[in-house]
Amino acid sequence: MANEDKFKKVISHAKEYGYVFQSSEIYDGLSAVYDYAQNGAELKKNIRDYWWKAMVQMHDNIVGIDAAIFMHPTTWKASGHIDAFNDPLIDNKDSKKRYRADVLVEDYCAKIEAKINKEVKKAEKRFGDAFNKEEFVSTNGRVLGYQEKIDTILKRLGQSLEKEDLADVKALIEELEIADPMTGSRNWTDVKQFNLMFGTKLGASADTAMDLYLRPETAQGIFVNFLNVQKTGRMKIPFGIAQTGKAFRNEIVARQFIFRMREFEQMEMQFFIKPGTQKEWFDYWKDTRLKWHKSLGLGDENYRFHDHEKLAHYADAATDIEFNFPFGFKELEGIHSRTDFDLKQHEEYSGKKLQYFDHEDNESYTPYVLETSIGLDRMFLAVFSNSLQDETLEDGSERTVLKLPAVLAPTKAAILPLVRKDEALTTMAKTIVDDLKWDFNVVYDEKDAVGRRYRRQDAAGTPFCITVDGESIENNTVTIRHRDTMEQKRVRIEALRDIIKKEVDVKEWLMLMK
Ligand code: ATP
Repeated sequence: MANEDKFKKVISHAKEYGYVFQSSEIYDGLSAVYDYAQNGAELKKNIRDYWWKAMVQMHDNIVGIDAAIFMHPTTWKASGHIDAFNDPLIDNKDSKKRYRADVLVEDYCAKIEAKINKEVKKAEKRFGDAFNKEEFVSTNGRVLGYQEKIDTILKRLGQSLEKEDLADVKALIEELEIADPMTGSRNWTDVKQFNLMFGTKLGASADTAMDLYLRPETAQGIFVNFLNVQKTGRMKIPFGIAQTGKAFRNEIVARQFIFRMREFEQMEMQFFIKPGTQKEWFDYWKDTRLKWHKSLGLGDENYRFHDHEKLAHYADAATDIEFNFPFGFKELEGIHSRTDFDLKQHEEYSGKKLQYFDHEDNESYTPYVLETSIGLDRMFLAVFSNSLQDETLEDGSERTVLKLPAVLAPTKAAILPLVRKDEALTTMAKTIVDDLKWDFNVVYDEKDAVGRRYRRQDAAGTPFCITVDGESIENNTVTIRHRDTMEQKRVRIEALRDIIKKEVDVKEWLMLMK
């Protein structure tokens, strides 16, 4: 399936199976704002829990908080967001469409990358088993030429953005002859900066109301609470503070479903360290976070690091973990070495000391910070799009199956009486539901022929179907069918809990991080 079709299928499947709806759909929706439906809310919660367990529960030096969305407005002056949280935008004079200038250039490079992939595929076919991809991409003249072109373009883009040389960003777009992707027009305006924060007001009367912002990242709620947490938790450096929560950005272009939203959720962790140790912690968190991703089994080849050319105003090193989304490799998580920028800024603007006294070295210092920041919605999209598969079965029939990692699946098992009209079967199935629901999300499903029910649960992502039939009444056994292998086994009812647990238990999955 072409990537574009695959992405369309992801969006329609997410709606049809109760995962994601457009916000306020009855009023024709609100651009780049989405609601999570009955299954989506469960999947999202499970991803959040999987992250929280790995980051907070499994680290005795990381604690979690839940800071407010509203913060004192000076926070955003100190953090640099009022002055520098901008994206470069460009308008097309003919189509009147607005774009992010940097994204136009990046998309241009993605097209060159597609050419590299084409060369690799061709060579793979030609050389068969003897093909060595690494060697090919590091020696093939054509591929090297493409790669050099990409590197030169991205380097220049990074440098111009860093210097705020917006005229050069426009010049680059013109030199590359980049056209409006919707209309083909090359009639561009100048590039301008656009602040992404949403403003609002606090207070009842117009003259006393205070200007506020909806937070564009959760991190600042952690920085302003650094000393409170350190003191009350008696935390010793190195230690981390984690939180998950909503963030808001008035994104210029938001056309990729839940990839780029105006209201979204972040899962962030700020790790406070001794100055000078940032390089080793940067490497540690890069490695640890990649292992977390890989533990979910979405395919190691679907991840790669992308080191930043252009560093944000607060960073001395930064990398993205990129994921292979249906529209190509894009940022899923950021890992940033933020130095002491934030704490120093908050010290300056608040007039309060935000330092740590190191009893071992008998000195006070402003800690450095290593940050891991992942979008929960992007993670949802990565998991969901990767799991959605069309299969042709041995008998030639087709099935759509959502192979969600079982630990994240919204419903762990569906309990199906073979025949709806047989009261003994329905009663027994409901008893199994009542028993298992203490430990897992399970559903009872009696409508339609059992084959159709299997297909429905496959498409909804349920790892197990448990069928109660005549034999169940005689000897207390049921069949349990596995979503991915479609294998069916007859087992004793008392064994169900352990069978399901083994497959969905967080411990079993997180152990794969080792
Ligand atoms: P991008 O370059 O894609 O705009 P960013 O570099 O601005 O992202 P960060 O500020 O590093 O993103 O935010 C950390 C994470 O938050 C990102 O890796 C991403 O997963 C998520 N995120 C950021 N913006 C959005 C958004 N508009 N919608 C959904 N998730 C987002």
